[in-house]
Amino acid sequence: MMLNALKPQPADKILQLIQMFKDDPRATKIDLGVGVYKDATGLTPVMRAVKAAEKQLWEVETTKTYTGLAGEPAYNAAMAQMILDGCVAADRLASVATPGGTGAIRQALELIKLAAPAATIWLSNPTWPNHPSIIRYLGMAMTEYRYFDASTGTVDFAGMLADLAGVKPGDVVLLHGCCHNPTGANLTLDQWAQVADLLNAKAAIPFIDLAYQGFGDGLEADAAPTRLIASRCPEVLIAASCSKNFGIYRERTGVLIAISPEAGMRATTQGNLAFLNRQNFSFPPDHGARLVTMILNDPRLTAEWKAELEEVRQNMLTLRQNLADALRAATNSDRFDFVASHRGMFSRLGLTPEQVETLRADHGIYMVGDSRINIAGLNAKTVPILARAVAQVIG
Ligand code: PMP
Repeated sequence: MMLNALKPQPADKILQLIQMFKDDPRATKIDLGVGVYKDATGLTPVMRAVKAAEKQLWEVETTKTYTGLAGEPAYNAAMAQMILDGCVAADRLASVATPGGTGAIRQALELIKLAAPAATIWLSNPTWPNHPSIIRYLGMAMTEYRYFDASTGTVDFAGMLADLAGVKPGDVVLLHGCCHNPTGANLTLDQWAQVADLLNAKAAIPFIDLAYQGFGDGLEADAAPTRLIASRCPEVLIAASCSKNFGIYRERTGVLIAISPEAGMRATTQGNLAFLNRQNFSFPPDHGARLVTMILNDPRLTAEWKAELEEVRQNMLTLRQNLADALRAATNSDRFDFVASHRGMFSRLGLTPEQVETLRADHGIYMVGDSRINIAGLNAKTVPILARAVAQVIG
C-alpha cells in the first residue's frame, strides 16, 4: 500500500472560489476571481488570428511526429524576437518551449537548482502564489522583498531597494516583467534601471516572469523593462507565457530564455535546458507554439492579432478608468484612484478579508481573499454595482 500515505493537499484558493461562484444561484453574481480575460459578454474568445492560423494549420500540417526537445527553433526565435527585439546577440540566447508560462518558471527554477543549488530566490511580497509554491516543492531557499504599499496602492520602491540591498552574489531575484500579479502596480523604467544597477552591483541574477506582454501599456512598452534588464545584466532568465496575450490558455504555450554572459556558454546552457525538458516531459506541446509561430511570421496574421490584443488592452483600460471614477463618486474620496494607473488584468483594492467576504456573501461579488480583482471580469453594467458595494462595505 502506498496511496494511503498521501495527505490531502490544501485546496487552491482560486479554484475554490470558482466552485463557490458556480454553486451560487444568484443571477446577479459577479466573478472577479480567476485570471482569465473576458469580454463584455463574459466570454473568453478564441482570438481571430488564432482561428485563422488553426484553419491554415489543418491544411498544411503533414505530420504530428515529435518536435525537438527544445521545441521548434522557429517558435523559440519568434518568441525571442517578440520579447527582446534583438537587444541581445542571438549567440547568447538559449531557449526551450515549455508547457505554458508555469512550465517555463518550473524549468528556470530547475536550471537554477542545477547550476546554483544554494542560491536564494527573492520574491516580491506579494507575488503570484505559484512562485513560492513551486520553489518550496523543489526544496529551494527563498525570501521576500517589499513591493507593495497597500496604503497608496503603489510600489514601495524605497522598501524594495532596501530589501534587495541584502541580496547575496549568485542569488536570483524574480521580477514581474509587466502587469504585476496580484497588485497591478508596476515600476517605472527609471526604477527598473536602478534595479538593474543594484543587481549588477550585487552580482545577482534577474529572473523575469513575463505573463502579460501586451496587456499593460502595449506589446513594445510591456517588453521594455525586460529589454532593459537583458541589455544591462550579463545573465538573465526569462519565463514567458502565451496564455493571455494569444488567449491560448489550455494549449500550454510558453518559453524559457536563458541569456548567457558570453556566446561560449550558450551551447552548454542550451544542452542543460533540453536535458531538463527531457527529464520532466520530453517534448514540449507544439500546437499552441505552432499557432504563435504562424501568427508572428505572417504579417497579415500579426496585424490581425495585434489589433485584437489592442482591443483587449483598451477594454481593460476603459474599465479601469470607469471603475476608478465610479469608486471616487461612490466613496466620495480618492482612495481608489490607483485603479486607473494600475496595469494588466489585476488590481489589489486593499480591502480586509472580512470586507471581501461581505462582498461575496451580501453582494455576490467574488474576488480573491487579498482583495485582488480581475478587471476583465467587469463590464459597463457591473462597474457601478461593484463601486456601490465597495463603498457600502468600507462604510
Ligand atoms: N506568471 C504569472 C504572474 C501568472 O499570473 C501566470 C498565469 N496565471 C503565469 C505566470 C503562467 O501562466 P500559464 O502557465 O497559464 O501560461
